[in-house]
Amino acid sequence: MLHILFVLYAISHKHCSSGEIPTMNGNKSFEPSCPLPSSDKKTVQLAHGGGGRLMQELIQDIFVRAFHNPLLAPMHDGATWPVEKGTLAFTTDSYVVRPLFFPGGDIGSLAVHGTINDLAMCGAKPLYLSAGFILEEGLSLDVLQQVVNSMAKAAQAAGVSIVTGDTKVVDRGKGDGIFINTAGVGLVPSGVRIAPTLIQPGDAILVSGDLGSHGVAVLSVREGLTFAGNVESDSAPLHEVVGDLMGSGVDLHCMRDLTRGGLASALNELATAAKVGMSIDESAVPVLEPVRGACELLGLDPLYVANEGRFVAMVPESQAETALAVMRRHAVSSKAARIGVVTGRHAPPVILQTVLGTHRILDLLSGEQLPRIC
Ligand code: MG
Repeated sequence: MLHILFVLYAISHKHCSSGEIPTMNGNKSFEPSCPLPSSDKKTVQLAHGGGGRLMQELIQDIFVRAFHNPLLAPMHDGATWPVEKGTLAFTTDSYVVRPLFFPGGDIGSLAVHGTINDLAMCGAKPLYLSAGFILEEGLSLDVLQQVVNSMAKAAQAAGVSIVTGDTKVVDRGKGDGIFINTAGVGLVPSGVRIAPTLIQPGDAILVSGDLGSHGVAVLSVREGLTFAGNVESDSAPLHEVVGDLMGSGVDLHCMRDLTRGGLASALNELATAAKVGMSIDESAVPVLEPVRGACELLGLDPLYVANEGRFVAMVPESQAETALAVMRRHAVSSKAARIGVVTGRHAPPVILQTVLGTHRILDLLSGEQLPRIC
């Protein structure tokens, strides 16, 4: 039996260097750059990343308490587990969303959902996650606790375990509260192959739900804006609907989650990789009215706004209705719609048939429409 050694639980020890070498004659003061822990028990201190007692307390009191599971319990340098027959999928993503909390989610749940979704897009059943935290000195431990609890809750709800992790602390002003990296391992069942190169002219293009809610929800709190109708992030795990789609016998050619850059960027990436064209019907793309209104106000195009619980799928036209029916059985994809068709190769590759009856090129953005969104 093959055993995987997942070497990440090495909590590295921060090496301290003195700013000045102390002397015996008192001409130079002793100014160590590795400060002693203060008595402040409510915020993250540099010593929480220093490998000593405070770091051990942080790991035990916050991380282990929230994430506890049999693979984490040995507290070894890495998690090990036996693997079944099949193919492994492995992915990683970093999360720097600002603010840390937003309607419908927070950086913790996002860090779990985002990595689960990347595994799901490979046709994998998500199994295990790692969690790497970069914390800023001065961060409230209550805030950290909330984020970690949210991660634990999201992981438990999705049936995955956080089995290894790492914590580092950076000086006050050198971070932005919390940055998180999660890596994930999943199992792709034998015989499953999902890849951009399988996309063919004639394939139907399906989207799993309404677009743009995540980006607008984050922006609304960041900028202190209120919009008519409450816009909540769509952040959600997609592996269950994907598992159902795979089990339904639909010949899934490719899938992609619609994160940074939104639908337009994902379609461009896929069309380029598959050497095909794509034609999208704007009137068929679901966008909630409050999101559409907010985007108009802010000069954003919902087709480019990030989502964290939406994906696009390419399936044979003859199976499009079956696939949509399966997707609509799940709350996360209840508004699934057929939005276009794969065509022969042309440049630029993605064309939008607008509601006005005109054609518009859906190109890749040359800049960043919404920074720090995930
Ligand atoms: Mg992705």
